[in-house]
Amino acid sequence: MARIIAIANQKGGVGKTTTAVSLAHALAMRGRRVILADLDAQGNVSACFGRQPSPGLFRLLIEAAPLADLLAEVRPGLDLLASDVSTARLKLALAGEPYREAILARALANVSHDFVILDMGPGRDLLHDMAHNAAGEVVAPVAVDHLALVGVGMELATLRAVREHGHAVELTAILPTFWDPITTESRLNLEKLVSTFVDLVLPAVPRTTRLREAPALGLTLWEHLPGDHPACVAYTRLTERVLSHAQA
Ligand code: ADP
Ligand code: MG
Repeated sequence: MARIIAIANQKGGVGKTTTAVSLAHALAMRGRRVILADLDAQGNVSACFGRQPSPGLFRLLIEAAPLADLLAEVRPGLDLLASDVSTARLKLALAGEPYREAILARALANVSHDFVILDMGPGRDLLHDMAHNAAGEVVAPVAVDHLALVGVGMELATLRAVREHGHAVELTAILPTFWDPITTESRLNLEKLVSTFVDLVLPAVPRTTRLREAPALGLTLWEHLPGDHPACVAYTRLTERVLSHAQA
C-alpha cells in the first residue's frame, strides 16, 4: 500500500506546490514509484512540468475513470495526476453523495506505487477533507516571512477534527520556507516555530530567485539548481525525513 502524504497549509503562496514537486521528484530519483496528485483547481503542478492542466482528478472521482489511464509519467518513476478548473466543480458534482470526503481515499486504496504526494490548494473545503482522509501523513510548508504560526495552527485544528472522526493522520514535518536570514521577522518567526514544534521543524528553505524561475522552465529544483545549493540541501533533508519515517 502506498504512503499518502498531503502537502498542506491553508495559506496560499507558502511553497506547497514547490514542496510537492521537489519531494515527489526526489523520491522518484531515489527509485521509489511516486504519484504526484494535483488537488488545486489552478493546475500549477502541470505547469511546473511544462504541461497544460487537464481534468485527471475530476475524471478519477466523478467519472470513475481508471487511475492508470489518467497518469502521465513526467519523469522516470514519477506519475502526474493532473487537475484543472474542473476540480472546482467537484464539490457541486458530489453534492448529496454519502461519505464524499472518503472518495479520494477509496480511489487511491489499491495503488501499487510507493508514495502518493497530494498537492493541496489554499483554503479549506471538501478537497481538503478528502485529502486529510486519504493521507496518513501531512507535511506543512510554512512561509516564515508572514503569519507562520497561524497557518500551522489551522492545520493542526484540521488534523484534530479528522482524527476525531476516526482517521489516523499525523503531522510528520513542518518545513519553513521563504527563509530570509537578513530580515528580523524571518528569524523571529523561525525561532517561534522551533520553540513550539521542536523536532518537527526541518531546516528552512531559503527564499531564492532560482527556485522561482524553475517552474517557468518546466524544470524541478533538482534540475535547475546545483545540488549543494541551500534550497537543495533543505529539500534533501525533507526527503530523508520522509524516507526515515518509513523505517520507524
Ligand atoms: P503554494 O503552492 O503554497 O501556493 P508555491 O509553491 O506555488 O506556493 O510558491 C509560490 C511562488 O513562490 C511560486 O512562484 C514559486 O515558484 C515561488 N517559490 C516557492 N518557493 C520559493 C523559494 N524558496 N524562494 C523563492 N520563490 C519560491
Ligand atoms: Mg500551489
